[in-house]
Amino acid sequence: MRTVTILGATGSIGTSTLDLIEREPDRFRVVALTANCDVPRLAEAARRTRAELAVVADESCLPTLAEALAGTSTRVAGGRQAVCDAAQSGADWTMSAIVGCAGLGPTLAAIEGGGTVVIANKEPLVSAGEIILAAAKASGATLLPADSEHNAIFQCLAGDRPAGVRRLILTASGGPFRAWSLAEMAAVTPEQAVAHPNWSMGAKISVDSATMMNKGLELIEAARLFPVDPDAIGIVVHPQSAIHSLVEYVDGSMLAQIGPSDMRVPIAHTLAWPDRMATPLTPLDLVKLGRLEFEAPDPVRFPALALARTALGAGGARPAILNAANEVAVEAFLKRRCGFLEIAAIVADTLDAYDPPAAHDVDAVLAVDGEARRIAAERVKDRVA
Ligand code: NAD
Ligand code: MG
Repeated sequence: MRTVTILGATGSIGTSTLDLIEREPDRFRVVALTANCDVPRLAEAARRTRAELAVVADESCLPTLAEALAGTSTRVAGGRQAVCDAAQSGADWTMSAIVGCAGLGPTLAAIEGGGTVVIANKEPLVSAGEIILAAAKASGATLLPADSEHNAIFQCLAGDRPAGVRRLILTASGGPFRAWSLAEMAAVTPEQAVAHPNWSMGAKISVDSATMMNKGLELIEAARLFPVDPDAIGIVVHPQSAIHSLVEYVDGSMLAQIGPSDMRVPIAHTLAWPDRMATPLTPLDLVKLGRLEFEAPDPVRFPALALARTALGAGGARPAILNAANEVAVEAFLKRRCGFLEIAAIVADTLDAYDPPAAHDVDAVLAVDGEARRIAAERVKDRVA
């Protein structure tokens, strides 16, 4: 019996994780579930799984949660510290699936608690990768990647033998605007940007996929998780999203992981690791799929990729600026306060405007994150005015 905690249990990744563990009640038991303030979904999931603890990050939602779970054995709590406490509730396996850098504190808390911590929430790895890896080393926690590309690479690395690896190749679907002109992209609406052709995901990562900033963040995520030079991490657009990523070895072999575009596949891999578990998904029908296509990403229509690569190369706190500015710009776009193409422009402006200090601890990273958000918000205002 494996005990499980899900941080961000009401989101897209959280819901997929719950779907898998609820199919095997003899194998998994839920310790804690957390959400920001989606009380109906959180309470419903806590009831179904008989979770020991349900937590809302937004403390003002606690009374409603308490009411919704009255008469059950589930304890309730509210506030940001309560989410970090839930992350340390002693589960064997914790899913980190809060969206954005808001997940940094809870993810670190889970890592400090030891056990297996599965990273879907990529933004903290981008902003504070070295701190997160050092914390895992200190506590002995095992980090497993849930992001489909990184999970694919983890599987293709076949254990702990990176010797002989020449290159990692991240595949990208190219998003909904892969074949659109710049003029068409300038008029994109939030509704168009969140409708991904191959994957069903939360709003923020859907917009990131459409700008390809998601692949930029994933490039940095890969550089944090795997011991390879950033120049040895390539990106190829693969519209079918059947191959989730590849590892190229020095002898010319390339290993790829192929499967349905459903996050339950990589999540199941981490849930059962080092074993396997069944999922309800239909395996890919290769004949029906027919052909697999690959193309180079277009740097002109998708400038976010180069911004991420440059930020990674410059190192220090620059990836934290990239991420924070992107979070602000994506939110502004979703609220119709800036255009689609302005997202990358706001990130570029913020990177240009801010020479960050070194940031070796969480408080320093959060200070850079805060200043980058302030600058990016100014840029949004300038555009609206
Ligand atoms: P989502 O928006 O669907 O869900 C986010 C979850 O985090 C919700 O449970 C929400 O209540 C909670 N949350 C939001 N703000 C919070 C805050 N300030 N404090 C505490 N909790 C908060 O997002 P998602 O699509 O599930 O993505 C979650 C993370 O996983 C992201 O970092 C994303 O990049 C990553 N990821 C997602 C997918 C996917 O297919 N959805 C794939 C790979 C990686
Ligand atoms: Mg991914």
